[in-house]
Parts: sequence; structure tokens; C-alpha cells
Amino acid sequence: MEKEKIEFVKSKVRNIPDFPVKGIQFKDLTTAFKDSESLRIMCDALIELYKDKGITKVVGIEARGFIFGSILAAGLGAGFVPLRKPGKLPAKTIQKTYTKEYGEDTIEIHEDSINENDVVLMHDDLLATGGTMAAALDLVKTMNPKKVYINFICELVDLKGRSLFPADVEVTSLFDFEGE
Ligand code: AMP
Repeated sequence: MEKEKIEFVKSKVRNIPDFPVKGIQFKDLTTAFKDSESLRIMCDALIELYKDKGITKVVGIEARGFIFGSILAAGLGAGFVPLRKPGKLPAKTIQKTYTKEYGEDTIEIHEDSINENDVVLMHDDLLATGGTMAAALDLVKTMNPKKVYINFICELVDLKGRSLFPADVEVTSLFDFEGE
């Protein structure tokens, strides 16, 4: 993605200090989503990144990962799989509890949502500590997909969330924020 386009999208991200708890600099991406030009730039850039990877399923992480997860699935001609908070999915699930930047959480996925023929793209809006995506990766891997890719729109590099992922999993983000 061209540098000025990245800067344009970044300029649309709103920073909310002390949300949801004191000390967190919350990156509000809704302001980047509501701008049609910014939304289009992100959409085109992400499709370009993954269009030749043979992705068959996009896993979106509740809730903010559903927004671009579905856009990506449709754009890549893949299926969409929601990874949700406990008690929301109606059929048989597998689940995992993990620690995040502010608190603890549990995630679930339908146990029949992915199979060994799938090439999976896992998507969330933002990489902070990486706890959410690392737990999600563990869950998805128990279903033995052929290959897994991980993508975020935005990365908080100082939190070093990337270090949680194994070297054989390609991790991308469209842009990052430092020092916050
Ligand atoms: P983590 O597991 O720490 O990487 O947290 C990632 C999840 O929490 C993502 O789903 C984000 O939407 C959300 N999140 C964590 N920290 C922030 C932040 N500083 N700004 C915006 N969203 C955040």
C-alpha cells in the first residue's frame, strides 16, 4: 500500500485515552471505517495481500474482527467463520480462555467450521498483546487446516504481540502505532 494512503487511513483512526480502563490508549477504528475512501483503501489493500493465497475460510474474531472479516471473505471468494464469546454459537464448540491487554476472556468456535482442506485467514481489527489471536490460533489449529495466515488492520508495535505467534505463521498488519 502506498505510504500516503496508509497515512490517510491512519489519520482517520481516533485515539481515546483511558478507554475502557485508565492507562489504555484505545484506537477507535470506527472513524476509519465510516469514511468511504478510507474503507475502500483498506479493502483493496487487504484483498491485494491475500488474493493469490488460496484462502478458503476467513475467521473473524468477535466483534470488531467481524467487520473486515466478512468484507475479506466476500472479496476473496472464501467462506466466513465467526469466532465468538461463550454461549453465542448454537452448535457444538471448542473454546479457550486467555489474558488480554485489559482483563481475561474466553472465545469459542464451532468444532465443524474448519477442516484439513482449508487455507485459513484469521482476522482481527487490532493487535495489542496478541493474547486474543494466539488463543484463536490454538483453537483453529486443533482442526488441522492446511495453512493459516494472520492479519490485523492495525498493530500496537510496542506491545510486541507478534512475538506470541510461531515463525511458520505469516502475520501482516496494514499499519502500526508506536509509543502508545
Ligand atoms: P490483544 O489480545 O491484547 O491483542 O487485544 C486485541 C483485541 O482487543 C482486539 O480485538 C482489539 O479490538 C482489542 N483491543 C485491545 N487493545 C486495544 C486498544 N488499545 N485499542 C483498540 N482496541 C484494542
